[in-house]
Amino acid sequence: MDQPDLTPLDDVRARMARAAAIAGRKPEDVDLIAISKTYPPESILPLIEQGQRVFGENRVQEAQGKWPALIAAHPDVKLHLVGQLQSNKAEDAVALFDCIHSLDRPSLVAALGKAMAKAGKPVPCFVQVNIGAEEQKGGCPIADVPALLASAREAGIPVIGLMCVPPAGIEAAPFFALLAKIAAENGLDRLSMGMSGDFETAVMLGATHVRVGSALFGARD
Ligand SMILES: *Cc1c(COP(=O)(O)O)cnc(C)c1O
Repeated sequence: MDQPDLTPLDDVRARMARAAAIAGRKPEDVDLIAISKTYPPESILPLIEQGQRVFGENRVQEAQGKWPALIAAHPDVKLHLVGQLQSNKAEDAVALFDCIHSLDRPSLVAALGKAMAKAGKPVPCFVQVNIGAEEQKGGCPIADVPALLASAREAGIPVIGLMCVPPAGIEAAPFFALLAKIAAENGLDRLSMGMSGDFETAVMLGATHVRVGSALFGARD
């Protein structure tokens, strides 16, 4: 009766662990990235206090306003960029983030390669794949993935895996499975896939990084 309520963080972690167990995977093989976009430091701090250490933002400018003070107070926190990145923000992104999930086109390879060389900071990247071949969506076309990977390596960018945001409103599992297949074909073993609505499916299909926002912080406006 006096048992404390399960926090949203406890709940998400438990669901990740259950999904991992079903798939015969270890819970520690999947990183939870808490996507804090639109949420202020007052909402983020309780998660840091509960032990969460990896956060994600989708806008460089918003992150620049929020995170330097939080990171100064909690230097072991890691920050990932999960949103589309404009080439003219590459230097800012390299300076602030520990990992970038949205490398998706040759112009950004060039900009990030240059920014990392200049800063002397190779930031691990995921290549984002337009897995549902959606016209308006960011991400590299599936057919162009090998060439983009080759040019990223040539530019000195450490590419560690593939990332996707499947089409909204339909079952995500086939898209997760396809991303896993493309990663395997290209010798990559990390997969950034799964959000609040589908992270358990993603874990069962091999996600190594899930990006969960609203299930942790509440619905955004
Ligand atoms: C906002 C966002 C998420 C998290 O979405 P939720 O549905 O709130 O979990 C994950 N990935 C990307 C790229 C996002 O922009």
